Amino acid sequence: MSKTHEQFKCELELKNPLVIIIGKYTKATDYVKVKCSRCNNIWEAKAYSLLQGRACPKCRVIRGIENNKGKTHKKTHDEFQKELKQINNGITLLS
Ligand SMILES: [Zn+2]
Repeated sequence: MSKTHEQFKCELELKNPLVIIIGKYTKATDYVKVKCSRCNNIWEAKAYSLLQGRACPKCRVIRGIENNKGKTHKKTHDEFQKELKQINNGITLLS
């Protein structure tokens, strides 16, 4: 049984909240037009890959650059702790 457009939209909101569907969902293996709520980039991706959490290609590049920066540029303790808090509020830094 295939999903309806509405079902896909609901599922996408749960699994990939940063991605907004702007095209019409047809089926899982078809391309659907979506928009990134973070950088407003519009692209087309396979519907099923979006439900697997596929991120916006533009944001992926930005994140990659930030990761590289993290390797070469040493973070201060405070910066690191702040970032850690954003990722997981349950983690406490001991050293
Ligand atoms: Zn983006």
